[in-house]
Amino acid sequence: MAQTPNIIGTTVMQLLKERGEAATPENYERTYYELSGLPRPAPPAEVGKNDPACINLLSVLRQMVQEITDKTEHLAHDLGEKNQGLSENVSNLKSSRDKNEILRLLSTVVMQAGSIHSTVESSHQELLETRQSLNAMQEELAETRQMLNEDALTGALNRRGLEQTLSREIARAQRTHTRLSVAMLDLDHFKRVNDEYGHEAGDQMLVHFTSLIRSVMRKSDALVRFGGEEFILLLPETDLRGAHFVLGRLQQVMARSPLNYEKKQINTTFSAGVAALKPDENGHVLLRRADDAVYAAKNAGRNTIRLAQ
Ligand code: GH3
Ligand code: MG
Ligand code: MG
Repeated sequence: MAQTPNIIGTTVMQLLKERGEAATPENYERTYYELSGLPRPAPPAEVGKNDPACINLLSVLRQMVQEITDKTEHLAHDLGEKNQGLSENVSNLKSSRDKNEILRLLSTVVMQAGSIHSTVESSHQELLETRQSLNAMQEELAETRQMLNEDALTGALNRRGLEQTLSREIARAQRTHTRLSVAMLDLDHFKRVNDEYGHEAGDQMLVHFTSLIRSVMRKSDALVRFGGEEFILLLPETDLRGAHFVLGRLQQVMARSPLNYEKKQINTTFSAGVAALKPDENGHVLLRRADDAVYAAKNAGRNTIRLAQ
């Protein structure tokens, strides 16, 4: 045979068939990453089965898997039939002694070989197109995943992103015996910003606050919008003192960078609680200690940083 369509999509389908596994999107995706050797992105912990973006993508993926199954089955069937016809004629050709019969068989064999070639060619083209669509879809999946992990207003991670990032950072800190600190930040009297300047100003303040935090954090730190006006900063390889220092810098930056909104300057402050990971502590307990420290900072009069015990 001239060319065998050698693409991952087809191989995935063959492998699923050999293993007796159903061609579901989940099996397809798992096997795809297994075969391609590409790192498989961890599925978001609770990527909503009810999320419209997910439902939409899954249905497109299901449709594509069905298309590949149809194409490969059709190709195998078509080639099987044509190959059988060709072998029969070749063996007749070998045994035939009649010149006219030989000429007739020869022209049939040439025709059949040409037909097999064009079947393979067109299937190859179709499967290439399918592979391109699958690649595009894989990218779309990655983007959607990112969207599902990020807060739409500020671009910070959302709670789902926090779960993944926190467990990854805790595992890393434990494995490498390095410090990990978390800071919980809550804007002071944020309700007043909304009440005095309107909700739009409040939204802009959240975006402004996010960019000020980004200006003091390192690339390896992670920023999470934990709730309305509550943020969490994950600081790998940072102890309590280091985290305190970063937040102190943020306080200074905030004091000299009010939000400019409709020709007005809006000032605000934040209260923060910082906790450093203890040996064998889990993320839940770590965040609770940071949260308790925020509570203490609010009680101490706000615009304050408190370190957890
Ligand atoms: P405290 O200093 O005790 O933290 O007071 P606070 O006013 O910041 O806290 P409180 O929890 O009473 O109010 C938080 C406010 O944040 C209430 C809510 O309307 C507002 N908020 C939450 N999410 C958003 C948002 O996405 N946009 C806007 N503009 N406001 C939000
Ligand atoms: Mg709050
Ligand atoms: Mg607040």
